[in-house]
Amino acid sequence: MLLLPLLLLLPLCWAVEVKRPRGVSLTNHHFYDESKPFTCLDGSATIPFDQVNDDYCDCKDGSDEPGTAACSNGSFHCTNTGYKPLYVPSSRVNDGICDCCDGTDEYNSGIVCENTCKEKGRKERESLQQMAEVTREGFRLKRILIEDWKKAREEKQGDGAGPSTEQLAASRAQRERELAADAFQELDDDMDGAVSVAELQTHPELDTDGDGAVSEAEAQALLGGDAQTDAASFHDRVWAAIRDKYRSEALPDDLPAPSAPDVTEAKEEQPPVPSPPTEEEEEEEEAAEDEVEEEEEEDESEVLGEQPKEAPPPLAPPQPASPSEEDKMPPYDEQTQAFIDAAQEARNKFEEAERSLKDMEESIRNLEQEISFDFGPSGEFAYLYSQCYELSTNEYVYRLCPFKLVSQKPKLGGSPTNLGTWGSWAGPDHDKFSAMKYEQGTGCWQGPNRSTTVRLLCGKETMVISTTEPSRCEYLMELMTPAACPEPPPEPPADGDHDEL
Ligand code: CA
Ligand code: CA
Repeated sequence: MLLLPLLLLLPLCWAVEVKRPRGVSLTNHHFYDESKPFTCLDGSATIPFDQVNDDYCDCKDGSDEPGTAACSNGSFHCTNTGYKPLYVPSSRVNDGICDCCDGTDEYNSGIVCENTCKEKGRKERESLQQMAEVTREGFRLKRILIEDWKKAREEKQGDGAGPSTEQLAASRAQRERELAADAFQELDDDMDGAVSVAELQTHPELDTDGDGAVSEAEAQALLGGDAQTDAASFHDRVWAAIRDKYRSEALPDDLPAPSAPDVTEAKEEQPPVPSPPTEEEEEEEEAAEDEVEEEEEEDESEVLGEQPKEAPPPLAPPQPASPSEEDKMPPYDEQTQAFIDAAQEARNKFEEAERSLKDMEESIRNLEQEISFDFGPSGEFAYLYSQCYELSTNEYVYRLCPFKLVSQKPKLGGSPTNLGTWGSWAGPDHDKFSAMKYEQGTGCWQGPNRSTTVRLLCGKETMVISTTEPSRCEYLMELMTPAACPEPPPEPPADGDHDEL
């Protein structure tokens, strides 16, 4: 750090010592060698050296009079030690106005110019340092923003949303296969490994033309024109068409609650079914299924068309009375009821799982929408999403909700005007993220739709610092944000501006 001022001074000392005519820059001094005749810089003439700065214009380009006002097209170079060197038009030499901060342009006008170069240099260095400080601090904040975004993404993609979309899709497909397999088994009444037109017809809920029954033609259409289908093509081609209508016989929704436990008879009536309570539950289930199936076979023809509402007469013996609906849905014995309850519970759980799956998919969609925005090379602009920033002028309150919209609301009341909704990043190719474009705002009367360009400037805070309307219905807004801060150079900026001194 201490070296820096010294390095700065070194060329300065040199500059002072190099002998050159008044008004000549250090870069050009070798053209003015007093031991030789002078050739105009444009090569138009060569004159004796004593005609340089003799207050008479000899060269067309004015290069023989760098230190006087003799040539109208010449220019005077001020060294401005401590600040920036400067060329002024020759006409300003000795015109009574101080143009160079070192005052050298007024060497013969009677005006005394104070040398303000050091002061100007100091001020400029200060403001450069301030800017560098802002950039450093802003960039530090930007790195934090980037980290935050990374973490937020990991969280959202990790436990927040649970499994990935691929996993969800896979488990959904798997469940669909199971559902289809169950339905197939149930539909395959004669268990010949195929679901036939007739078997499909036993499910009136699959009716497609609204007459309450599945005709042969309808069933065939559901089977894709075939007479029957095996399990594989049932899943591939039939299931999707019937899944939403299909109702499992084992889980009837509108089953009237069995009112009388007439079961023992019903049970006993099935001789092959062993019913000691010590039996495994599974066997019970099988028994129950057998029961249902056998009964169905018995009265298939009658059950076919309709779903009669008549509840089973509570006290009537179920058996002999009617073979129809009561038989299909008899009052259940304890085990059967337990099985049905368990099945219902399973269905509830399934529906619950289905719901939470949908929720997850929803939140993933939202997340995907959010991360589908281009939030900058490292996501540094992500924090602006879901924020809004306002700027009040005398007449309006301007509101910028990054990645969403810009609006303008009259202070004295009235509804806001849309100045554009999020369009795209709009900086130049090498600096795409330096500007945003908001388009398709409220239409101007007899004009285009309003639009807004938002320029992003490096700063420690995030705020809208200006709003203008440079041309009709086209607005320009400046948003200060750490996310726009470039990476500062590793050391405080070297003295690029002072090279010539
Ligand atoms: Ca001359
Ligand atoms: Ca002057």
